[in-house]
Amino acid sequence: VAPRDDDRYRTRRDVSAVPLQGGYAAKRCPVRVQFDVVPPSDVDPIPPSPGERLRMDAGNEFEVEVVAELVKLHPEAVVIDQSLVREAQQEATVAAMAAGVPLVLGGWLPDDGVGHRVGRPDLLVRTPDVGTIHYWPGDVKHHLSLKREEREVAALDPDSPVVSLEELWPDPVQRENAGAHRLRKDDALQLAHYHRMLEACGFAAAEPFGAIVGKERVVVWERLDVPVLPQTWDASSAAKESILERYDFEFSFRLDVVAAAIDGEPIVEPVLVPECGSCPWRGHCLPELEAADSTSLIPRLTYKPWHVLRRLDIRTRSELATLDHASAVALDAMGSATPDLLERAAALDPSMPVADLFDPVGDDLEATSPVAVRLEAAGFGRVGDLARVDPRVASLAGQPVRGLPEWIDQAWVASVGAGVPHLRRGVAGLAVPGADVEIDIDMENAIDGTAYLWGALVDGEYHASCSWEPTGFDVAAKVFVQFWDWLHTRLRAAEEHGRTVAIYCWHQNAEAGALKAGAAAAADLLGRTDAPAAVDELLASDRFVDLLRVFRDQLIHGGGDGLKVVAPKAGFAWRDHAPSGQDSMAWHLAAVGDPDAAERRANRERLLAYNEDDVRATAAIRAWMRALDPAHLP
Ligand code: SF4
Repeated sequence: VAPRDDDRYRTRRDVSAVPLQGGYAAKRCPVRVQFDVVPPSDVDPIPPSPGERLRMDAGNEFEVEVVAELVKLHPEAVVIDQSLVREAQQEATVAAMAAGVPLVLGGWLPDDGVGHRVGRPDLLVRTPDVGTIHYWPGDVKHHLSLKREEREVAALDPDSPVVSLEELWPDPVQRENAGAHRLRKDDALQLAHYHRMLEACGFAAAEPFGAIVGKERVVVWERLDVPVLPQTWDASSAAKESILERYDFEFSFRLDVVAAAIDGEPIVEPVLVPECGSCPWRGHCLPELEAADSTSLIPRLTYKPWHVLRRLDIRTRSELATLDHASAVALDAMGSATPDLLERAAALDPSMPVADLFDPVGDDLEATSPVAVRLEAAGFGRVGDLARVDPRVASLAGQPVRGLPEWIDQAWVASVGAGVPHLRRGVAGLAVPGADVEIDIDMENAIDGTAYLWGALVDGEYHASCSWEPTGFDVAAKVFVQFWDWLHTRLRAAEEHGRTVAIYCWHQNAEAGALKAGAAAAADLLGRTDAPAAVDELLASDRFVDLLRVFRDQLIHGGGDGLKVVAPKAGFAWRDHAPSGQDSMAWHLAAVGDPDAAERRANRERLLAYNEDDVRATAAIRAWMRALDPAHLP
């Protein structure tokens, strides 16, 4: 499949000095790809944290397990010896493909000097084509590739492009249906990289498919040359591009980025993206983003809106804060219809109610369109009021800027408001749900997801329910029962004395999910069949309070709202010098399995102190919010 004849899909510079790039380049931050070749002069790369290393190790172990399973199921597979030097592995891979073996595992494709590519696909699956030798690439990923409902549908549908490790090869009908389960875009881009490499060495299939083996241990196939993705450079366009086209777009851009940096003329700048959290170059970029007052520092303002705002020449939070908020609300309400509606409004009697611009809603001729309701609330009650909509804001119609009103407020608080918590627009006072007995809870989970520690704070005292045994369902069940019984004793005692109870956590998703999983395990393994319903009842009640939501609904401070960001605003500090949920998984591994008893003990103490501080942090935020005087809040 030749690259599209459009210079967006090809390099635009002389990239001859750019070193070979691997399968991750197209999906990585372009600044990171650049720094990997031309590092910034002010910092050294930050090595992976214990938690990141643990995640990488878990991924490698999973890959080894899947390869072993595939070898057992397909004895004819050739496994490339990973202890050989690079050239020998590449020669062995080519030899195996040239011999037409059905499955090559752990292959290393020959360097693609023309395309500037290097790559090691976990799987090379020979296509069923007769008379030719072609391969499809595949990769093993230590994450789920299918949504829960997709797993259920795929398990029942023999024509689904989800194939067992044993069957491995998709039949023609399954190939026809490839695309029914969309792969993660990042995974698909990596497969496209390997496909281009197979083209370079003459083994690519005419019908380009690729497969991912995720944590479900099934093979999800997707076709790489059908237009399924929205165009990257024009969010307002309905045009689509294929995975291969998106890959060509992203990869060629990164080659240009590196070439420009080598020439001393960098063409990219840092933007805060989720990848920054674990990027080795964050020591350079994060201070630079702060110094530049980048709009990307605003919570939930992602790369695409950052790019759209930059086209409007809005690069800083201070500049964003000057955009007209009411116009942003109008844009949010009218969406992509904004230009049409403004044009119609300009031609009508300005004194007409704005609701007359809209068709009746359903059969009710009296009902007002929800768009008109929002416009009226933002001060655009008459058609003539719409002339006040800032043309710069209106020009963003159709662009990915949902959330602009919120971003303007966040930008204002971060810049003009100096990051001091402010009451949200429309919020008159502060309310934190309270009760006679207030319990803060927090859960820690291991790398496999098992909740092995539940901490709770009540009346200033910390209580831990935990296990230091190797994790699994039995540990989840046992620890859940310990915690649940302790909690119920508290709830019963309160009820007997006619006292109300509230249970607080920060961002309830993790805790609610772990309570449900623990209850299910306790029902299965320990006969506690009443536990799942009891947990559901608690979660649905107003006794279970997500304090993050309480905070987010009422206050705004121009920054993120993770516990480690907000609690310091309340004057709270963790005792641990580097508190981190991800790193705590590495501490847990040492707490359970380190051969040195002193090391195990030290890690257990660290985890208990960390968990205790998490619940104390939630309690501190509650107390701080209650002490804030709304009358004196900006
Ligand atoms: S810190 Fe962020 S912006 Fe900088 S290179 Fe890494 S991912 Fe890119």
